[in-house]
Amino acid sequence: MTALNDISGRCLCGAVSFTAKIASGDVDVCHCDMCRRWTGGPFLALADGGSTHFEGVENIGVYKSSEWGERAFCKVCGTSLYWRLIGSNEYELSAGTLDDQSKLALTTEIFIDEKPAYYSFSNDTKKLTGAEAMAALMAGKDSGQG
Ligand SMILES: [Zn+2]
Ligand SMILES: [Zn+2]
Repeated sequence: MTALNDISGRCLCGAVSFTAKIASGDVDVCHCDMCRRWTGGPFLALADGGSTHFEGVENIGVYKSSEWGERAFCKVCGTSLYWRLIGSNEYELSAGTLDDQSKLALTTEIFIDEKPAYYSFSNDTKKLTGAEAMAALMAGKDSGQG
């Protein structure tokens, strides 16, 4: 686990920015069909532990992508900002929006059974199928996207 404290980030155009205090720089990547349509590739996410403060909230659009999940984006430039379990105060921040990504570590891949064959990460990661990731999500032990 990589120790991390104060982080900041922003969307491509800067209309939305944020700060957060997080305990770990561990990044999950989700290969599910929805994440790939949403971002154009797998979604790399950093759990914020409920600590994110957003600036420019009027520029944040929210899309409910499933019965349990919602995805947010910048209304100006379209940057994918976060995935969140509906009703939770914890955000899965898009790792690509962080200003400093030097302390992040890719540790887990979820929905590995939906990963297309044309790419793969060489990182040594824990790999969960969609069913395993959803079971962990519902048990409140791990992150998952939907
Ligand atoms: Zn933007
Ligand atoms: Zn996903």
